[in-house]
Amino acid sequence: MSERIIPVVDQRSSLILPAPAKLQAGTTLKDQLQRPLHDLRISVTDRCNFRCSYCMPKEVFHKDYPYLPHSDLLTFEEITRTAKVFVALGVRKIRLTGGEPLLRKNIEVLIAQLAALRTPDGQALDITLTTNGSLLARKAQALKDAGLQRITVSLDGLDDSIFRQMNDVDFPVNEVLAGIEAAQAAGLSHIKVNMVVKRGTNDHEILPMARHFQGSGVTLRFIEYMDVGATNGWRMDEVLPSAQVISRIQAALPLVPLAAAAAGETAQRWGYANAKGQYDPQLGEVGVISSVTQAFCRDCNRARLSTEGQLYLCLFASQGYDLRSLIRSHLSDEEMVAQVAAIWQGRSDRYSELRSSLPPDASQTPARPRVEMSYIGG
Ligand code: SAM
Ligand code: SF4
Ligand code: SF4
Repeated sequence: MSERIIPVVDQRSSLILPAPAKLQAGTTLKDQLQRPLHDLRISVTDRCNFRCSYCMPKEVFHKDYPYLPHSDLLTFEEITRTAKVFVALGVRKIRLTGGEPLLRKNIEVLIAQLAALRTPDGQALDITLTTNGSLLARKAQALKDAGLQRITVSLDGLDDSIFRQMNDVDFPVNEVLAGIEAAQAAGLSHIKVNMVVKRGTNDHEILPMARHFQGSGVTLRFIEYMDVGATNGWRMDEVLPSAQVISRIQAALPLVPLAAAAAGETAQRWGYANAKGQYDPQLGEVGVISSVTQAFCRDCNRARLSTEGQLYLCLFASQGYDLRSLIRSHLSDEEMVAQVAAIWQGRSDRYSELRSSLPPDASQTPARPRVEMSYIGG
């Protein structure tokens, strides 16, 4: 059997920092494409207890994979200080992710620290977390008590054998469903479930998932399988376009389009319709995230902080900016703000928009291999 050779990018090299920006009070920070900075995604661990083949395929992420040593991780205090800098520059929403964020010990302590931050006009931040749900039944109440308001659970199907195959560690679907129920019981609101759709693998689970979550208070969102990282062997023919997801649901459960809830929202929303063909809030809604077939780079207001404090300006970036060195070099908060502002001002990333103009094999053999999603945070 021939062995698959997979390039794993050196995730530790970083970009040269630009000169710090001179910020004018009262102006909104914008990048080269006039996009503001609004969301910060923070990866709190590069480890995971699942091996979803589209994210951390087993043959790459095996027991000898060089995960980051603990001393390389940002501490909770360093994460909170970095978040504070981003809040000063416009960030209003923070998503904790990974790897599997609930594997990070005492994650609720970090949530409490972030929940205590305030915007310049005294508002609390919108704090959420994305999890595979495996530890959620145990942790939901502690997360809520620490100040988490919302949560997103990834779930790729209801059929137990399909789910076990997708997570590739034989994890049963019932435990994730119990986690979602525990999150509801703990009072976490706006619970979302994300399903990555891979044509030919779990696309027959679309309708059962839609039926299961209709009217449950949980918003189901379908994500197009993306060419992130360099290890998942992505192929365009395994992407099921969101338009087909919607038409498959609509054939059984009528849907009507809904307006975007917020600027820069990644999901297109569809509401379940009643017998009169009108949106019925009791039945709820579904969303589709069409990262491949309908790029939304023009509205992308997200920055990503890796587990070891590298700042990435795009999910498909090859290199980041080493903020950890800045924090550990005792820069003042004002100096950090000026430095991060200059980085954002120089941003021109729009990979998904450019993808369609790239040669067909460019996704899996990019000029510079991309960092993995488990490292940079989804
Ligand atoms: N472990 C957590 C989880 O699975 O929710 C958080 C990290 S995971 C990297 C964040 C999100 O990225 C998940 O919803 C996952 O399904 C999604 N994801 C990972 N690889 C993907 C890919 N190749 N295409 C689309 N979504 C992907
Ligand atoms: Fe782990 Fe989440 Fe990646 Fe699956 S998608 S391997 S659960 S980090
Ligand atoms: Fe944002 Fe990059 Fe995704 Fe475009 S490809 S939406 S710039 S993360």
